[in-house]
Amino acid sequence: MNLRKLFLTNNECYKAGQKIKVQGIMVHSTGANNPNLRRYVGPDDGLLGHNSYNNHWNQPRPDGQQKCVHAFIGKLADGSIATYQTLPWDHRGWHAGGKANDTHIGFEICEDGLTDPVYFNKVYQEAVEFCAYLCKLYNIKPEKPWLICHSEGAKLGIASNHGDVMHWFPKHGKNMDTFRADVAKKLAQGTAAPVTPAPKPSTLYRVQVGAYSQKANADAQASKLKAKGYDTYIIMAGGLFKVQVGAYSQRANAEAMARKLKSDGFDCFITTEAGTPAGQAQDPAPTLKVGSKVKIKSTATKYSTGQTIPNWVKGNTYTVQQVGNGKVLLKEIVSWVNTSDIEVVG
Ligand SMILES: [Zn+2]
Repeated sequence: MNLRKLFLTNNECYKAGQKIKVQGIMVHSTGANNPNLRRYVGPDDGLLGHNSYNNHWNQPRPDGQQKCVHAFIGKLADGSIATYQTLPWDHRGWHAGGKANDTHIGFEICEDGLTDPVYFNKVYQEAVEFCAYLCKLYNIKPEKPWLICHSEGAKLGIASNHGDVMHWFPKHGKNMDTFRADVAKKLAQGTAAPVTPAPKPSTLYRVQVGAYSQKANADAQASKLKAKGYDTYIIMAGGLFKVQVGAYSQRANAEAMARKLKSDGFDCFITTEAGTPAGQAQDPAPTLKVGSKVKIKSTATKYSTGQTIPNWVKGNTYTVQQVGNGKVLLKEIVSWVNTSDIEVVG
């Protein structure tokens, strides 16, 4: 068993902070084809991998729902299997949709396409060891109704009407009876595996290389970084598009990255701020050509010809009629404007 810990502290269930007397365990599976732990557990601790959709369950209502479990079993970024504890064991979880929430620890096995026996056998074995560990910890008998799956809970009237895990286990010659027998065997061997010391669900240090009000400008900066071989991402926080590189649990690693960026000419600083991902630029910033739509920056002062640019012409979108040397002729106002004073919007 590879047991690690990352509490979902932003989840409303975690924040509710209710305690239970642990009497049983309910086995769930996710019902979606995604074996990666990072889909559900985050942020990245260096092992999980980065979830670019940021849709893991460490948020108030994952997928818009009030739900939370005590653990997930699935794949780390390197493809190996691990168990992540996501709530304290005696915390009241929101997994069963019924009374079992008051008595049972609930954990999810990340489903894949349900047909791969290799993945199934690995997560089944991990779940057996994990349940043996919990049975020992809380003196739980690996018997009905104390060690059950969600669909068994539904039949017992203590859980909502879901089919997990009996839509999956039988495809690989297993069921909850074999599962309970395997947990009992493991317990009899007295080899409930030791717990791997878990890294704290700590602050992540990110290196920020610019904050922009326009996404196009953030994309341009991200492209420059990519061209130099940096892996970047853009987040939205405080109304700005922020370009960041890396997320490190050790501040020293972020500092090393900041030094490297500075030596490559990028101004940057270290932040612990995480935002909503704004997505990566799929296309390079639009180039300036005849027909491009542009805006005159609010910081612009004079036309290429030297006259003052009145404020009322700024902020509107214009069409490039002609491209000159460091300047463009804008059709609607029949004026030449320096390219440094415009931004391309389309
Ligand atoms: Zn379930």
